[in-house]
Amino acid sequence: MRYDESYRTRVAELHSSGMSKAAISRDVGVSFPTISKWLDPEYAKRQAECVKSWKKENHELVAEWSRRERRRRPEVARAATKKYADEHPEKAKERSRAYYLRNRDDVNERAAKWRKEHPEEYRLISKRMQSKRRAWILGGGGEFTSAEFIQLCDEWGWTCAYCGRELTNKTVTVDHKIPLSRGGRNDIQNIAPACLSCNSSKHAKTPEEFASVLAMG
Ligand SMILES: [Zn+2]
Repeated sequence: MRYDESYRTRVAELHSSGMSKAAISRDVGVSFPTISKWLDPEYAKRQAECVKSWKKENHELVAEWSRRERRRRPEVARAATKKYADEHPEKAKERSRAYYLRNRDDVNERAAKWRKEHPEEYRLISKRMQSKRRAWILGGGGEFTSAEFIQLCDEWGWTCAYCGRELTNKTVTVDHKIPLSRGGRNDIQNIAPACLSCNSSKHAKTPEEFASVLAMG
């Protein structure tokens, strides 16, 4: 419940007149913890720390409770997980790795089912992951999202950036304008949609070098 400012003022007055918190609570009709919080801003912080250390000592209990809540309200749990992942990307990655190691068979089975049901999305994701892996191996780093790649293809009108051939999400390939092998990053700014033929004949050339080869050809 929300209180207006007059409650706080009343609580402060009664407290300075020497009344106990319990008596104020009964008199004003505000709970004991709320009164404590109003009278001592540090109270809420200490209480949060208390809860945190209790949870740490009783993590089995907490885990059991959270599993139950997840089953009870899965959509709320999913939203909370996503919020946490957005705020703590590194920790979220660690957690999901640990979860995978514990439930490898289940996860693989679910993933295989998802791939079968979403072949188009999977094709794009695997292209993206492949270029991320290569960037990681070659040391340049960087990554982009499926949405960014689709937007880029839209901007190019789903045509090859080099020869203009029409592309679909089946035929498009991820080309690195400055090749990864020459220090290019795996960022969307360094990506162009290309047909397989251009991508494989471009090899480690920059767009300019490749253009001069095309002109000679
Ligand atoms: Zn092409």
